[in-house]
Amino acid sequence: FFLKENPPVSDDQSRLDLFIDRMVSQRACLDFAIAETAAMTGPVFELGLGNGRTYHHMRQRISGRPIHVFERKMASHPDSTPPDEMLILGDVRETLPASLDRFGPSASLIHADLGGHNLEKNDAFARLISPLVEPLLATGGLMVSSDRMYFDTLTELPVPEGAVEGRCFVYRR
Ligand code: SAM
Repeated sequence: FFLKENPPVSDDQSRLDLFIDRMVSQRACLDFAIAETAAMTGPVFELGLGNGRTYHHMRQRISGRPIHVFERKMASHPDSTPPDEMLILGDVRETLPASLDRFGPSASLIHADLGGHNLEKNDAFARLISPLVEPLLATGGLMVSSDRMYFDTLTELPVPEGAVEGRCFVYRR
């Protein structure tokens, strides 16, 4: 059973409904997190570039903060491709621990959209990388994820207006 989106809120939701909910929620959560952390100067991390739509959105709306992109295999739209020096190429299971040595607990905003079509795998992966993401966030920093994360020290926030609960998750240190 493969489904990228989390289970429907109601039985009459189509896959198109779920997809739209996910996209609308991703944008609302990102915009909220960008605004909440606007006064911070620490770097922003985009985990999973994919086509680059969310990276493009963040690049348009974030100023004065470097955006580092974590991706294992480049396949982005040319308009949404980060410069080489901002790309951290490799598997996040290796690049996140290495980034703790490089950046310390300095990230003002971390966005993760690393999942594929298999919900169980996405959940297992979120469990696996939660302890690798958690120490990278600065005090006051926010983490936005398409999958529920499993943090010990971060607080889950209610989703902002415009987002659908369960389609996007926001955490604060
Ligand atoms: N948010 C993106 C957008 O708006 O276009 C879509 C991201 S796409 C759903 C997920 C991306 O995460 C894929 O490009 C995939 O290669 C990457 N990814 C998945 N697992 C990864 C891993 N372990 N390490 C690095 N990148 C990974």
